[in-house]
Formats: sequence, structure tokens, C-alpha cells
Amino acid sequence: MKLWRRQKASSDGFELLRGFSSGLEDPLFLVRRDGTIVFANEAAKRTFGFNEMEGRTILAMTISHTVERLVRATFESGLPQAEEFGIRTTEDLVVIARAWLDPSNRGQAYVLLRNVTAIRKLERVRQDFVANVSHEIKTPLTTIRAMAEVISEVETEDVGLRERYLRQILAEVDRLSLIVDDLLTLSVAEGHILRKEPCDFREIVEGLVAQVQPRAVEKGLELVLEGPETLPLYANPTQVAQIALNLISNAVNYTAEGSVRVLLSRDDKFATLVVSDTGMGIPSEDLPRIFERFYRVDKSRSRASGGTGLGLSIVKHMAEAHGGTVSVESTLNRGTTFHVHLPLDPEAD
Ligand code: ADP
Repeated sequence: MKLWRRQKASSDGFELLRGFSSGLEDPLFLVRRDGTIVFANEAAKRTFGFNEMEGRTILAMTISHTVERLVRATFESGLPQAEEFGIRTTEDLVVIARAWLDPSNRGQAYVLLRNVTAIRKLERVRQDFVANVSHEIKTPLTTIRAMAEVISEVETEDVGLRERYLRQILAEVDRLSLIVDDLLTLSVAEGHILRKEPCDFREIVEGLVAQVQPRAVEKGLELVLEGPETLPLYANPTQVAQIALNLISNAVNYTAEGSVRVLLSRDDKFATLVVSDTGMGIPSEDLPRIFERFYRVDKSRSRASGGTGLGLSIVKHMAEAHGGTVSVESTLNRGTTFHVHLPLDPEAD
């Protein structure tokens, strides 16, 4: 009896459908008017975590009244139905469910659950980004407007106030420029093919350390570079410089006393840049978020030091675009260490 059943199952008339739908990444069901599943593809079984779905109802298998309602509406109206909604499977998904009658047998209907979770998430990220950019730009604009208004209203004799407000307006305009520069850097890095060439990590970092040194001296910090005399990379030198500059200038910015050490090293495949400081550190609850765009631990301190909140997101994006990684460890009030790994130039050895 069992053997007969198994033979029957493999010649159930769904060979064509099974073959075709096995290549689909989205769950596909064929259901009867009473909701019983007569066929489910592999993606359906994988998504909902069942081996056998045939013979069970679509409500029992998907635990979704929306899917069941859609199926009912399809049979009642005879017309295709579609709806987008959240559904809990082995994970939480957003799907667009479509149901339509089988043209060759109107006693059954197809149900396809198109997984749009990733797309909706991306859209969300983009919307949040636009909202964040608008907010970041709006804040200095509001300040500029208010100060310009005061200047235009004050008595001309009050030169002191005028000058102070003008200086603040200039500072806000500079901040706006920095934000726009960083946004452009990010957009160029995201939108263009990465042009790589042989370059020397040591040479790039040495130049940047020299560039940041005056600010370190001004703050009484020791800024040192250690590592091999040469470190060949196959990379985009502009982006490598941006990665290193962001990390080194952050280290100097967020350190009040002590030192910033910049360390270069290598193993078989990767060059490593370590930037460690003895600064204020980052609270552990903020650590997972610091690579997000516009995320700052302390907004006013970041502003005061000319930060845009975009530096680390640029570092992460560029390191990953090179096939590399960036990571961070930090102890509050003790210091922070960033590690960047970038692929070596395979031709160089
Ligand atoms: P910002 O332009 O504000 O410096 P980043 O993206 O470069 O933005 O850094 C994000 C946040 O991470 C900073 O606002 C700061 O709070 C924190 N941060 C980055 N580097 C350090 C560091 N070396 N020490 C302490 N905090 C840091």
C-alpha cells in the first residue's frame, strides 16, 4: 500500500510544475477551493519549515489569515488577487501574495508569495537616509537664517554682536560644505567602479600622519607610525587615503591626552592598519552602530570637532569595496582601536 502511494506521489501529474517551480526562490502553492494544498514547491517547504505540505490546509501551513482570505476571494470572484503584508515563517518576511485560478482547472488556484523583504528594507534605508540628510542640512540652515535675521535687525553700532554672528554663520556654512563633501565622497564610492592600481600603503599613511601631526602637536598628543618601510597594495590610493585619514583624524579628535599609534603590518594575503588611541573610548552599547551614516556617540562633541558623522560609514564602505574589513574595539575612558584589513598586491612578492 505504502509503495503504491509513493509511486502515485511521483506520478501525481505535477512533474512539469514541480520541475519548473523548483527553480523559483519564492513559495508557490496549488490549492483547492476548500484550502487544501495539492502541491507546494521546494521554496514553500523551505520557507515554512515543513517537509510535507500536500493534504494540509494553506491556513495550517502558513498560519496566515490574509493568505486564506486571498484564496477565498480568488475562488469567489474568479479574478486574480494580490496583497502585500508581513508574514511570520522561519523568519519575519514581507511578501506580495498573488492568487489566481488555474486556467485548466478552475477548481484550484495558484498562490505565489513573492519575498520583497530585502527590497522593502533597502527602500527603508534609503528613506531614512534622505530624512537624515535633510535633518543634518536643515539644522545649520535654521541657525544661519536666525543669525542673518538678527544681524539685519540689530543697530549698526553693535559691531561686536554682528561680528560674532557672522563668524558663526561662516562656521555653519563650513559645516554644510563638509557634509556635502562627505556625501559626494560616499556617492562616488557607491556609484563608480573601483579603479585599482599598485600603490604603497606605507607611503600613503606616512603622508597622512605628517598632515595630521600639527593638530596632534597642538593638542599635546604623541602621534607615531610603526611598521615595514613598504607595504604593496593593489587598491584605489584615494580611497585608501580616505580610510586612513578618517581613522587617524578621529583618533586625534577624540583623544584629549596620551597618544595615537598607527601600526602597519601584513600576513600572506592582507595588509593591516591599526589605529589605536588613548582617548575617551566608545560606550559598548554604541559600538555596533558607529559605522552607520550620521551616527555619533556625542552629537555636540562631534560637531565641535568638525565631524559629520559620515567618516566611519565611508571607511566601512571603502574597505569592503576593496574586499577588506574594518573592526573596532574600545574601552570607555581608556581608548579605541580600529583594525582595517586590505588585500595585498598579489603581483608584488
Ligand atoms: P564624526 O564625523 O562624528 O567623527 P564618524 O563616522 O567618523 O563621525 O564617527 C562616528 C562616531 O564614532 C563619532 O561621532 C564618535 O562619537 C565615534 N568615534 C569615532 N572614532 C572614535 C575614536 N577614535 N574615539 C572615540 N569615539 C570615536
